[in-house]
Amino acid sequence: MSDVRVRFAPSPTGYLHIGGLRTALFNYLYARHTDGTMILRIEDTDRTRFVEGALENLLKALDWSGVEIDEGVMLDENDQVTEKGEYGPYIQSDRVKAGIYNKYIEKLIEEDKAYYCFCSQERIDKVRDRQKADGLTPKYDGLCRSIPLEEAKERIANGEEYTVRLKLPKNREISFEDRIKGKITFNTDDMDDQVLIKRDGFPTYHFAVVVDDHLMKITHVVRGDEWISSTPKHVYLYEAFGWDAPEYIHLPTVLNEDHKKYSKRNGDGMVEDFIAEGYTPEGLINFLALLGWSPDSEEEIFTMEELAKQFDFDRVNKTGAVFDKRKLDWVNGHYVRDLSVEQLAKEIKPFMVESGMIDENYSDENLNLLAETWQSAIDKFSDAPKLSKNYFLDENEIEWDEEASEVLKEENTKKLVDAYLEKLGEADEIDEEFAKTIMKTIQKETGIKGKNLWFPIRAAITGSVHGPDLSNVMLLMGKEKIEKRLNYVKENF
Ligand code: GLU
Repeated sequence: MSDVRVRFAPSPTGYLHIGGLRTALFNYLYARHTDGTMILRIEDTDRTRFVEGALENLLKALDWSGVEIDEGVMLDENDQVTEKGEYGPYIQSDRVKAGIYNKYIEKLIEEDKAYYCFCSQERIDKVRDRQKADGLTPKYDGLCRSIPLEEAKERIANGEEYTVRLKLPKNREISFEDRIKGKITFNTDDMDDQVLIKRDGFPTYHFAVVVDDHLMKITHVVRGDEWISSTPKHVYLYEAFGWDAPEYIHLPTVLNEDHKKYSKRNGDGMVEDFIAEGYTPEGLINFLALLGWSPDSEEEIFTMEELAKQFDFDRVNKTGAVFDKRKLDWVNGHYVRDLSVEQLAKEIKPFMVESGMIDENYSDENLNLLAETWQSAIDKFSDAPKLSKNYFLDENEIEWDEEASEVLKEENTKKLVDAYLEKLGEADEIDEEFAKTIMKTIQKETGIKGKNLWFPIRAAITGSVHGPDLSNVMLLMGKEKIEKRLNYVKENF
């Protein structure tokens, strides 16, 4: 095991967003690539954003995806939240309870690198409003910076409410080297005296993240690039403590197709939604790996092991990565194609049942036939009921597509449908023999062949002139359903 220690540090405020899974994945791939350690820490010091059950949801989604946690918060064999590792607790609210942050904030205050602030929220809002009206970037005006420590302590003893703020030096450049974006510099005059301890006594993210990354010996901070503007505050805190900062790797923003940030707030993009749509973990992971990273070849299909072998930050892009759902479908389709027919049948069953196409007792034989029929066209399991719905619906419910409707009105169609019905009448049921030979028989009897034969029959049975192997479809639908449907066609077109 190497010294590399990376962490995924989500704030569980609901479900796991796809951008969060991409961050977790890039951390994980780097950990595996370097034989390092993948840690999961929960950052829940913002109690106003606490959501019941969010932690379990998050861990389950990660578990589903195949991103494994070596240390920190994880699920045990019974899917219960547990912790493992020698730097715990790994949930920040528990670290608050354990008093871990106290001595660090005291040290900063004693060394005049942080100060007590007694300003009320109303005052802070007023200052901000005024600054905004004057066209300035809103930030704390520093009123409490110069209160002597003894006086501040007395005010606290007298019961005054307070926060603790970082005392940034004036007009100083703070730089750090981002592995992907290069050197980034901020001036402290453009930065805020960040709150480190809130009125409720909880540390803010900015304070806790630095203390915890240091105490947990994190070597590389890999996170979304929305955190870049926070990084100088963190870098300054490391300096104030006299600690070495980790290496920073800020990943390109995930964009939607309009090149805007693919955001949680739009309510889409939750990992659970992709599970519900029937994507495979392998497909989603493969796709996410390519969201901001590219391999050193034209290849695009990778297992987790292959990704771990090839992955490094050198080939992570600087600019935003567009989330292209068609690409996801294409990638996922590869994994669907790789399944055995029986596996695919098992996977599509719940989607078929849920859409009301079949019930739980539907035969395995037919389900396998259905899987085999559509395996080359299914990109995600929820495609199965969409692709095959016309086989299951009653004839007055199915959608006849435009091309089919045209073909069904043609002269020859009646002749062909009659020929089919006649043969069907002579058969007890549709078996393989019937399904394999019927089209040849009709061709012989009517003299119609090729497109002129196949399009009308296929249109009449399935509602579309195109589609998969027709003999499979006949077997799936069976005699009664096809008979009804052909009679309906005769009467209605
Ligand atoms: N808790 C932060 C989040 O929710 C983590 C940021 C970081 O990785 O430092 O994204």
